[in-house]
Amino acid sequence: PNKLRKSRIFLPHLVASMVEVEESYIMIKPDGVQRGLVGEIISRFEKKGIKLKGLKLYQCPTELAQDNEHYKDLQSKSFFPNLIDYITSGPVVCMAWEGVGVVASARKLIGATNPLNAEPGTIRGDLAVQTGRNVVHGSDSPENGNREIALWFKEGEVVEWTPVQEPWLKE
Ligand code: ADP
Repeated sequence: PNKLRKSRIFLPHLVASMVEVEESYIMIKPDGVQRGLVGEIISRFEKKGIKLKGLKLYQCPTELAQDNEHYKDLQSKSFFPNLIDYITSGPVVCMAWEGVGVVASARKLIGATNPLNAEPGTIRGDLAVQTGRNVVHGSDSPENGNREIALWFKEGEVVEWTPVQEPWLKE
């Protein structure tokens, strides 16, 4: 086991190359839209070099938010009604992003759920102060990335394309 641990430490490039191309559902919540942060937030993901595959402004109806599989795990939480009010209080920006290890890297760019615990340099660390107004959502696993993109986008809204910058991002 010691040998194995050592080889993991000395072969980080091998571990990195095992990470797969994934999709993440990233959503700018109504506070991000109302505060004029759409360009700023999209820009952070664009600059990272991941691929935008879907993008739309959407007013989520209350019934859909309540029944939506998206926040299903949180239905029993005391803050669930507030969360539904928040998410339906104005338009959101729905995005599908693709890249190697994009789920984890997007969550790093987004920062901790509670903006007061989020590191400076992250979206929530720089732009938010409260968990209930944390401006952006990012999928927490590749499975949820695929599931959430299928929930929020209709067929034909997610586009397959090759950015010209690709050879400049990967050797
Ligand atoms: P994350 O969005 O970082 O993946 P969770 O999946 O735990 O975090 O929660 C989903 C969303 O529910 C949070 O982003 C936040 O908007 C809301 N939320 C979570 N916990 C609380 C809380 N204690 N009070 C108010 N809203 C909360």
